[in-house]
Amino acid sequence: MTCEALTEIYQLLYDAFGPQHWWPGETRFEIITGAILTQNTSWANVEKAITNLKSANRLTPEKLHHLDLAQLAELIRPAGYYNIKAKRLKNFMNWLFDNYQGELTNLESIDTDQLRVELLAIKGVGRETADSILLYAFDRPIFVVDAYTARIVFRHGLIGPDADYEQLRELFESSLPQDTQLFNEYHALLVRVGKEFCRPKARCTNCPLEKLPHTIDVEYF
Ligand code: SF4
Repeated sequence: MTCEALTEIYQLLYDAFGPQHWWPGETRFEIITGAILTQNTSWANVEKAITNLKSANRLTPEKLHHLDLAQLAELIRPAGYYNIKAKRLKNFMNWLFDNYQGELTNLESIDTDQLRVELLAIKGVGRETADSILLYAFDRPIFVVDAYTARIVFRHGLIGPDADYEQLRELFESSLPQDTQLFNEYHALLVRVGKEFCRPKARCTNCPLEKLPHTIDVEYF
């Protein structure tokens, strides 16, 4: 039942919006950097920060690791909360260099659950960030949950509004094939419909999911 509903939602969104080409990023390291910088800001601001890092020729693990914290904060200033985010990037670098010789390729052989535990242990890396890194940078079959995801599945009655992050993740991962490309596209499509239609004040008219049973009696988030 849930499986069918989630499959139908995916199909309707894909038919309406087409492929979303996520995650925008030329390299694995750029994806990771973007995942850390995107917390509490728009993607447009993240792009400005990444452009700064590229212009300064700093967007590699080695170069970022050796960059002074204040210089890093200045370069990523457009992303907002730049002092906090500079520390978070440094925390990631320290973990990578302390444990894996600064080589992202050394993470490829680590079991997904173990890698998730290690990422979550890095100060400033939360579930959504860790799961974005796992899915989009390392092609692991982990479903990324965010506020859009929660709002849409709550409103469509697929899970109770008290469900937490892990329960939402489990809902998707246990109902869908463990297909990295599907998880990649599905999350991006949920973000798209969340931004355009399923806002805190829902715009159900002409939403691709309008024909499915839903309720907007409660305003989530
Ligand atoms: S806007 Fe309405 S129809 Fe669209 S996903 Fe949200 S609740 Fe469903």
